[in-house]
Amino acid sequence: MRDKVGTAVMVARPQLSRGAKEAPIQTVSKNSVRFGGFLPLHSARGRAGPSGPTSAILMNKDPLPGFTTRAVHKGRGFAGNTGAVMPPVYLTSTFENGNADGFDYTRSGNPNFRLLQESVAALEGAALATCFASGVSAITAVLSTLKSGDLVLAEENVYGCTYRLLDQVLSKFGVRASYLDLSRAENWNQILQQRPALVWLESPTNPLLKILDIAGLSAVAVEVGAPVVVDNTFASPFLQRPLALGATLSLASTTKYINGHSDCLGGIVATNDPAWQEKMLFAQKALGLQPSPFDAWLTTRGQRTLALRMERHCANALALARWLETRRGVRQVRYPFLPSHPEYELARRQMTGGSGLFTAELDCSADAALVFCRKLKLFTLAESLGGVESLICHPPTMTHASVPAAVRRKVGIGDGLLRFSVGIEDVADLQADIDAALTEVLA
Ligand code: PLP
Repeated sequence: MRDKVGTAVMVARPQLSRGAKEAPIQTVSKNSVRFGGFLPLHSARGRAGPSGPTSAILMNKDPLPGFTTRAVHKGRGFAGNTGAVMPPVYLTSTFENGNADGFDYTRSGNPNFRLLQESVAALEGAALATCFASGVSAITAVLSTLKSGDLVLAEENVYGCTYRLLDQVLSKFGVRASYLDLSRAENWNQILQQRPALVWLESPTNPLLKILDIAGLSAVAVEVGAPVVVDNTFASPFLQRPLALGATLSLASTTKYINGHSDCLGGIVATNDPAWQEKMLFAQKALGLQPSPFDAWLTTRGQRTLALRMERHCANALALARWLETRRGVRQVRYPFLPSHPEYELARRQMTGGSGLFTAELDCSADAALVFCRKLKLFTLAESLGGVESLICHPPTMTHASVPAAVRRKVGIGDGLLRFSVGIEDVADLQADIDAALTEVLA
């Protein structure tokens, strides 16, 4: 299929039905090829090179065209008569009534939104997607579909602002929330008992990097007709496709890996369900949650290099996490693709790489942990993650400061916990930077 400028138009890849079998991980030999698949075997085609059990990236079994081809070519169907290779920014608040594409006002749609939505949908393996001004706007859009009395059953280690929205905003409108450790299968029967209106997952979680079994939880939720939302921000669609695992909605803060350059905010909700897409478009318009056309343009540009960036993020993070595990003064390192991670096997089944984030608990006080952060030269102490530059964050005083201390302690966010967002710099430089700061602080 070809679009207006003759660019190949990529069709969404086939979806697994809820609970359908995933391609298994296969260990072939000592220097084995391990396949982290998202697709049933009959529709999968091996793509990138082999990757061993200790490698940062597992082979992805996308059908043709490949992930990066989709990232580069999707969202180029515009202005066919101009010959422009890349899209313009449609800086317009309104549109002439009766135009062929049906645009009316940028709060409810803009060509730059359409380009972004098409390209991210293709990466998520989704039929549909709606873009928003931020990840929190996307979360707001999904939660706005609830009514008084509805219950959200959420993973207990959700992103701090998701918790704050539920606890301090939605609660005022009678929406209830209950939190459970959904990494423990013995808690899953609560989904059947509590019959929530929505099951809210995040995997890997922020900041503990817990891995939740999306396929398993979705299979339980479907029994009571509960839609499953997965916040896929930390993995990005390059490493994990929640819809293929049975989720109803895959949500991401595009501010992070999808845009990848820390220069704008954005959010996206991808789905295969037209009724949900209607609800998301309604929320975008009715609540004024739309991004600016320029931010949508930046994000469309950023996502074209998602695969290349993610490969480097994963390789750097795995190398640093593995080294830090052996470094004196470091109590615990969590990284989904380290064998020491409690859900290591699940991570390798569900994701094709461990992503660019790891946490480390330093053997020191909260104050000393902050001193360590400030001594680093290549990691900036800042909220956010997923950009090309390395960042470090102290969740108890930053991203999760809005979570009550008792809840933080309960879910395992200790005072010395640090979250590293590893960029795409040369890994030897990053290691030397961490090593020097640790030596000073722990001396
Ligand atoms: N979801 C997760 C997992 C996040 O980490 C964040 C932000 O850090 C968000 C959602 C919110 O995204 P935004 O900052 O774009 O509103």
